Amino acid sequence: MRTPAAVLVEPGKPLALAELEIPALKPGQVLVEVAFSGVCRTQLLETRGEKGPDAHLPHALGHEGSGTVREAGPGVSKVKPGQDVVLTWMKGSGAEAGGAVYRWGSRTVNAGAMTTFQRLAVVSESRLVALPPGLPAAAASLMGCALPTGFGMIFNVLRLAPGQSVAVFGAGGVGLCAAAAARCAGAGVTVVVDPRADRRAAALALGATRALAPGPGLADELRALAPEGFDAAVEASGRTEAMAAALACVRPRGGSAVVAGNARFGEMLAVDPRELNAGKRLLGTWGGDNEPDRDFPRWAGLIAEHGLDLAPLLGAAYPLARVNEALADLESGRVLRPLLDLSLA
Ligand SMILES: [Zn+2]
Repeated sequence: MRTPAAVLVEPGKPLALAELEIPALKPGQVLVEVAFSGVCRTQLLETRGEKGPDAHLPHALGHEGSGTVREAGPGVSKVKPGQDVVLTWMKGSGAEAGGAVYRWGSRTVNAGAMTTFQRLAVVSESRLVALPPGLPAAAASLMGCALPTGFGMIFNVLRLAPGQSVAVFGAGGVGLCAAAAARCAGAGVTVVVDPRADRRAAALALGATRALAPGPGLADELRALAPEGFDAAVEASGRTEAMAAALACVRPRGGSAVVAGNARFGEMLAVDPRELNAGKRLLGTWGGDNEPDRDFPRWAGLIAEHGLDLAPLLGAAYPLARVNEALADLESGRVLRPLLDLSLA
């Protein structure tokens, strides 16, 4: 059995379109027919060679998706054939079977415990979660990365209380999900900062109370909205200036800024240490500190309860053959979060 797949052969070059031979399933592995895959900044940085040295070339990629289980390997009990699932890079319960290895003609192609830029994927049981009811397959693909990262930052990391204020830097998939989560948490002033007008509009549609463009006047505008400083800030742009700005805008004595964006390899973050002396907290997070089996149904429940329309988050859908165009559109900002529709492959 074979599958079409996008393969990273050489960073800085377009992804190659390949036909991969599906290997026999090992214990803990599951064969999934991918429906939709998100395309996020992580794959963009990998493809552009901006995540540092890559020891696994050539390799498959993609780390959020939705699909249907086709075959369960030995010992798999969490999911069964025919079941709809979310594919996520976040490790949950179940076997961790390690990376899959595919044949591509005479070559070997590596994969992590899960990949999604392919029609059929061999995935570790631990990277699958039953599809929460009520989520359409396209939106469900975001449950693998952007949605849980945004919701997890608000509910797991910042533990935002009703009425608290929050500033979100960057209105890509993760930032917009954080704004939507803030609305679900009953946040007060919720400001989203992004240079693009269409993204600011999406942020307002998803629950932000204000949307601002970055620029020389930004610090003053933020101060006018939260004179004592924001209770919390989320950085989701990957820009180190935004990380510093997130820390700068939270209140002394207990304001928290959490960084989720991926900076380019080698970039360093400079902050004024007096911000820390003032009792501000600068936090990191592993994708919103999710326990996927516990949290994904929780986020889906909040989305349903609050009647959130995720349409502003969903970008254009591309067939796999146009994956390089999807990456270019993500890079230029033309498309918020491109999706691959693997049924077109
Ligand atoms: Zn991602």
